[in-house]
Amino acid sequence: DFGHTDFGLEDLPLRDDLRGQSPYGAPQLTVRAVLNTNENPYPPSPRLAEAIGRAAAEAAAGLNRYPDRDAVDLRRALADHLGHGLDAANVWAANGSNEILQQILQAFGGPDRTAVGFEPSYSMHPIIARGTATGWVSVPRTARFEVDAADAVAAVKEHQPSVVFLTSPNNPTGTALPLETVEAVAAAAPGVVVVDEAYAEFRREGTPSALSLLPIHPNVIVSRTMSKAFALAGARLGYLAAHPAVVDALQLVRLPYHLSAVTQAVARTALEYADELLGAVETLRAERDALVDWLRAHDFEVADSDANFVLFGRLPDRSEVFRKLLEQGVLIREVGPPEWLRVTVGTPEEMALFRDALLTATGRA
Ligand code: PMP
Repeated sequence: DFGHTDFGLEDLPLRDDLRGQSPYGAPQLTVRAVLNTNENPYPPSPRLAEAIGRAAAEAAAGLNRYPDRDAVDLRRALADHLGHGLDAANVWAANGSNEILQQILQAFGGPDRTAVGFEPSYSMHPIIARGTATGWVSVPRTARFEVDAADAVAAVKEHQPSVVFLTSPNNPTGTALPLETVEAVAAAAPGVVVVDEAYAEFRREGTPSALSLLPIHPNVIVSRTMSKAFALAGARLGYLAAHPAVVDALQLVRLPYHLSAVTQAVARTALEYADELLGAVETLRAERDALVDWLRAHDFEVADSDANFVLFGRLPDRSEVFRKLLEQGVLIREVGPPEWLRVTVGTPEEMALFRDALLTATGRA
């Protein structure tokens, strides 16, 4: 404390809207089953880890220079990966999709502007709104955690937001949105509509991505990440697809050289191994569907999931269930509506641990 024992947060010129707030974050604990942050449980293969290491070493040889400020090669590779006729001009990349979302609010939100979200949803959306001094309007989802298209359009007309957040599949509920809802909101919105598709790769058959709307609705922005299906949360790489004008706008707020040369090299190498990295997605989807069935068979209420996690209830004292799971080495997430908990889909071994621990924790064993 350098001798200033009485000095604390209250002595700093902290913004009034940040006083009393706590930092966002889930516990980082070493336990038998870490099922709380929707990561992919399968690490890169030794072959891929080595390839990433080689790419990082090559980048290291040039670290006296700033990286490609526009990350053009990486954006081209991401566009090729997405398909849909996209090219580098349609794609932007940043350090995780959280940074993508922050740049979107820096460019399109701000004082005297409003963002609308449909909650329960990803709690970083309002936090990033606050950080960029953007007003936040929360519209409730239906009892089944869906977004009612008419409610959504009415809210957009009433609040005239410069940014709308639609999360599909939604975190923490797993719910995906029909394209018609996204289209209705995009047609009514005076500003941009961000479709946060962090979990897109886990969608069930027949659930569409909003990527197909980009040619029709130039105000739609689709946000994606390599942190989930791509099994690369530690590398921090998020990206978006949108009209090139959106990318031009974000360049006005991005910090120069925000994506390190190492990050760019690692992400490009990972994209070359996309098939391998995405190889576990089928397994995880099947494990997810089996988990939903198992929970329902044991009389839990379960939200339909198009993601790599499942929201289940109803637990009159969810904190107690959370604690009893943790006592058995199973870490899940206390998030979402009061009587529900969220569990990430892990390996078969981790899910077996979870199932046993849950039966014990809820007195069903
Ligand atoms: N969007 C949603 C819906 C998420 O759940 C997450 C991660 N929890 C993110 C964005 C951000 O992930 P990242 O910054 O790792 O891309």
